[in-house]
Amino acid sequence: MATDILIYDGAVRTEQGWLSPGYVAIQDGRIQTVAAGRPDEELLKSARQVIRAEGKALIPGLTNGHTHFSQTFMRGLAAGRPLLRWLKELIWPLQSAMSVEEMRLAALLGLVENLKCGCTSVVQHHKVTTTRDHTGVVMEAAKQVGINCVIARLWSDKGVNSEDATAILDEMEEWFALTRDSADLPSRPFLHFASGPATPWRCSADCLQKTHDLAVKNGSFTHIHVAETRDEIQMSLDEYGLTPIRWLDTLGILGPQSQIVHAVWVDEGEIELLARRGALVVHCPVSNAVMGSGIAPIPAMLDQGVTLRLGSDGPASNDTQDLFETTKMALSLARAHLVDASVLQPAQLLSIAVGGQDIIPGSVADLILVNLAHERAMPVHDLDSALVLCSHGSDVDTVIVRGNILMKDRRLLHIDEEALLKECIQAVILLRKRAGLD
Ligand SMILES: [Zn+2]
Repeated sequence: MATDILIYDGAVRTEQGWLSPGYVAIQDGRIQTVAAGRPDEELLKSARQVIRAEGKALIPGLTNGHTHFSQTFMRGLAAGRPLLRWLKELIWPLQSAMSVEEMRLAALLGLVENLKCGCTSVVQHHKVTTTRDHTGVVMEAAKQVGINCVIARLWSDKGVNSEDATAILDEMEEWFALTRDSADLPSRPFLHFASGPATPWRCSADCLQKTHDLAVKNGSFTHIHVAETRDEIQMSLDEYGLTPIRWLDTLGILGPQSQIVHAVWVDEGEIELLARRGALVVHCPVSNAVMGSGIAPIPAMLDQGVTLRLGSDGPASNDTQDLFETTKMALSLARAHLVDASVLQPAQLLSIAVGGQDIIPGSVADLILVNLAHERAMPVHDLDSALVLCSHGSDVDTVIVRGNILMKDRRLLHIDEEALLKECIQAVILLRKRAGLD
């Protein structure tokens, strides 16, 4: 049987533990074989591409569960502002000044950063929706870069920059129709669409329910910022007499088809509710720390059985999209918060970082090779610890999405990175002027 790619002589992370050395064969976008030891000569000769992975770890690609690509153009500008001031004084003016071309470049930059840091899947909570072209160019950028991407189109129908609810629903219907069929092709990255309400305090109950129903009807989900800061809890109590999590539950939004981003300020009853409803929580520890928002109680969530993902959040509040940094921060902040070094283990965090994926025959070949043969990781006593505690995104050597090699030896095979960075630098100069920052 023909093999497209054979990776051997590295350490392979499987459900049953590490195979070191082990090897993996890939065919037609899927994993064909996973085994311990070295492949035989016949397999080595028959493979079209062979990657020797000595000193490297082969793991499923990371999933970045929440980001905003437009903010790649806004890194390092927070200057100590808390969330609401940061949004009003900086992020909203810059976002509304962004042209279609600037959005395209910012998305390409964001996608390339995720790819180079080992993310094979990303959820883009897409904020700049000034025109449909602002969303269309992000979809094209995702196809060009080649990683799996969910575009959760952000909307709000209350307050500053709000949109008409009917227009939001009409536009979403069109995007769902366009992306409906692209999810399950094994040799092509999936491009999916989702509803992305901004926050409970910026969205009406009626539009939240209608957009959620539309998403569910299309096999998709609602992706929403919730309970990020203490201020938001008070705003929700003042308006509805309920915390945002409980208010969303009264609307029927909490469930397996909802992704609750942040969930920093949640009580025990809300954690139990999130678990019981089967809602997924996206934990963004670096962003929450940089913005001074707080530390989400993820050990308690895991104890209750809440499904977790990790997210970088937008690069204006992180200020990178390095999910290795996010993974280490998730572990260390949880331990610091509870003053307990026994809380959470590197292997547990790594499983969350890879979105619960495993390297097993038949699964799609979304894989990364991480170099551990360097001064920060040596000596490797424990592979999970070496990856979670010692590695950076810049240690990712090779990225494969659906059997396509997108990066090898840290070189992007389909994108001119140098030209992209030059274009981005020029575009940001003009954007800052137009937004009145200079
Ligand atoms: Zn966010």
